[in-house]
Amino acid sequence: MLSSLTIAQAHEKLRKKELSSVELTKACIETIEKVDKTINAVVHRNFERALIEAKKADTQGTFDQPLSGIPYLAKDVFCEEGVPTTACSNMLRGKDYVPPFDSTTTRRLKAAGAISMGKANTDEFTMGASTETSCFGVTKNPWDRTCVAGGSSGGSAAAVTADECLFALGTDTGGSIRQPASFCGCTGLKVTYGRTSRYGVMSMASSLDTIGTLAKTVEDAAIILQTIAGRDPLDGTTGDVPVPDYLSSLRKGVKGMTIGLPKEYFIKGMSPEVETAVRTAAKELEKLGAKVVDISLPHSSYAIAAYYVICPSEVSSNMARYDGLRYGHSTEKQDNLIEYYIRARSGGFGPEVKRRIMIGTYALSAGYYDAYYRQAQKVRTLIRQDFEKAFEKVNCILTPVAPTPAFTIGAHTDDPVQMYLEDIFTAPINLAGVPGLSIPCGFSKEGLPMGLQLIGPQWGEETILRAGYAFEQATEWHSKKPTLK
Ligand code: GLN
Repeated sequence: MLSSLTIAQAHEKLRKKELSSVELTKACIETIEKVDKTINAVVHRNFERALIEAKKADTQGTFDQPLSGIPYLAKDVFCEEGVPTTACSNMLRGKDYVPPFDSTTTRRLKAAGAISMGKANTDEFTMGASTETSCFGVTKNPWDRTCVAGGSSGGSAAAVTADECLFALGTDTGGSIRQPASFCGCTGLKVTYGRTSRYGVMSMASSLDTIGTLAKTVEDAAIILQTIAGRDPLDGTTGDVPVPDYLSSLRKGVKGMTIGLPKEYFIKGMSPEVETAVRTAAKELEKLGAKVVDISLPHSSYAIAAYYVICPSEVSSNMARYDGLRYGHSTEKQDNLIEYYIRARSGGFGPEVKRRIMIGTYALSAGYYDAYYRQAQKVRTLIRQDFEKAFEKVNCILTPVAPTPAFTIGAHTDDPVQMYLEDIFTAPINLAGVPGLSIPCGFSKEGLPMGLQLIGPQWGEETILRAGYAFEQATEWHSKKPTLK
């Protein structure tokens, strides 16, 4: 099937004129039409424009850039000029918000010749770990449709796994790229905070949000990162640091690398199958020449508590812009402005967004700020220092991505705390601002994929891509495909 090609494979064929971008795009569209009824990964389809762009790529293009003519989907929070972008929230869906501009990532991909086919499902404003809070309904796991695809970038991960596109964009604030990648069995790259631009991507928690990618292989993730990384004058938090040539270092192997296994990431209550898969992966990396050592990240157990104060606090501030006046869900005229806000916002936002606005507003209010927000920020510093210390001794850190394989749809819907615990191995990485890569490392006895996480030092994407690539080359997990009708 053409749509199951990796970017690297498709690029080769496009360059040699063995394949056209129109053929490739059509193959993805056909797959979407065939399988999306069952998995519900795609929420806006932009096929007509995609085919026009693909044709242009075929007639004008020399395919000298690796993403030229390659079709992709973006999580529904990436603003794209002329394409509905709703964050899968009734707040923006009602009147279909259509941005008049492109996010920096969209613009960079356009310039590189990539073909945007539409938008992928996400939890509402990216708040969640299962895509169940989307106003378009849950995305189903391509391996087992009674299970979630993970979240919040569940649509992007499921779409990549189901070969609806060659790659997809996602965002990761507390695990939203890595966890769905692990649940669906694809590759997910969360970058260092500031490595990619957040401009034009709907914010959740601004000090934690990162823009990244879901792909079929580590090599593909490196190709995409090469195009989207780098300083952006439109996002003052992007780092003024050089972007290395990720592809040239990919094949250097892990010989001489020291990989740390933190004891706090193998805990009571996690699935023994996940633990075994990750420990087996550590052995594999050792066989490939890496030195694996035990390490400690002592403040890990406070990460979820700190994250669920800092994240909702920033959410409460970011959501304030949705006032029902300038754009989005509105309501009939009210006697006063406050009443208008209450009605418009109550009608537009779903329960998870409301819960976070309430928690965040509380944590930031006078009298509580010191007790909660400031305290959480102090814990965040301790967590960051844990990682800094660890990276004095190791090149990268190996952990599970999630405590279990994909869970059943509805399993955590009545218990938000249980859902928050899904982020136990991913949220600390966002608090520290370092990069993390999720790649498949096994299957549960129910046939569900499980992933490992490679964590690198700040700006150290090169290292985790290199280690991930070595593991991928030595194993078969990434090439397994679900059967979909
Ligand atoms: N599950 C986490 C949360 O709900 C992470 C979300 C994300 O990374 N966007 O906060």
